Amino acid sequence: MNLKDYIARVDNYPEEGIVFRDITPLMANGEAFAEATNQIVDYAKELEVDVVVGPEARGFIVGCPVAYELNIGFIPVRKKGKLPREVIEIDYSLEYGTNTLTIHADSIKPGQRVLIIDDLLATGGTVKASIDLVEKLGGIVVGCAFLIELTDLNGREKIKGYNIKALMDY
Ligand code: 5GP
Repeated sequence: MNLKDYIARVDNYPEEGIVFRDITPLMANGEAFAEATNQIVDYAKELEVDVVVGPEARGFIVGCPVAYELNIGFIPVRKKGKLPREVIEIDYSLEYGTNTLTIHADSIKPGQRVLIIDDLLATGGTVKASIDLVEKLGGIVVGCAFLIELTDLNGREKIKGYNIKALMDY
């Protein structure tokens, strides 16, 4: 099975000149979704992961089935104002302006081995912010997994030194 058959290319979304990679056809196909999940599970098995962390919203979709298969927990990273209890937060810059991501302050125990999962690695800003949140809580980031990596945007550079897995490249 070629997972790329289930990724839709959308030109000029969300802005003129951007090529958006839409993962919803992959999610909608049971075999493709299972194959992608299993590939990340296989990667994770060697890392002795204690918990999966995923940024909203597509990090939840990709990360939760992996956590379920590994029989471990899932911790959400969310935009400011969405988590109900005490959080720690981090600001990171976007192309225009900044964004704030948060995680529950008691979600990760010091020394826990964390796998960060998102749908796509672009500039690396989202995963870097997620790594910083995990490390502030004393977690050890043992891997970062994505369905897709946009190689031209050099996200890998921003998280140099971390173990990175992407199932597809564009
Ligand atoms: P970064 O922070 O690495 O620049 O961007 C990655 C984040 O933006 C991910 O959370 C991802 O969901 C979202 N993203 C950016 N571009 C795309 C795209 O082309 N397709 C999808 N599915 N998500 C994208």
